[in-house]
Amino acid sequence: MSDDPIDRSGLRPRYWETTPLKKMSTAEWEALCDGCGKCCLNKLEDEETGEVALTCVACRLLDDETCRCGQYPIRHQFVPDCITLDAATIHQHMYWLPQTCAYRLIYEGRPLYDWHPLISGRADSVHEAGVSMRHRTYSEYDIADEDWEEYIIEEPT
Ligand code: SF4
Ligand code: SF4
Repeated sequence: MSDDPIDRSGLRPRYWETTPLKKMSTAEWEALCDGCGKCCLNKLEDEETGEVALTCVACRLLDDETCRCGQYPIRHQFVPDCITLDAATIHQHMYWLPQTCAYRLIYEGRPLYDWHPLISGRADSVHEAGVSMRHRTYSEYDIADEDWEEYIIEEPT
């Protein structure tokens, strides 16, 4: 899996089918991420209805090519409010997590898609399936907050 920025080596075969999120090791938890980049998009929340709209205006640290965070280990130095998803609090984030997010799927007791790198064995399969944000984002550096409404998109699924 040399093209994969996430280390998915040495994991128990199909561990996500038998291990609850709360029981996963750190490596297993991290490997669950499919690398779609959709959780790093800015969202607009309607204060009255609570409805969340997705935009293609991405966090300043998201790399549009790899769909990975450019500074993941030290990202909070630059983006203090970046969420750290974990098994104890994931339920609080279900209202905005992308429909295809692997953490959502497992939380809901659903299987991973065939394009997930854990199944395909290749990180690029998420991009080839058209469900990632590769080449689809604008940096928040370039789009003023008040214009984000013009960049609302449907989640690629
Ligand atoms: S939406 Fe979920 S699977 Fe996709 S990059 Fe974010 S955490 Fe990973
Ligand atoms: S800091 Fe990194 S992980 Fe957090 S939203 Fe931005 S790109 Fe994504």
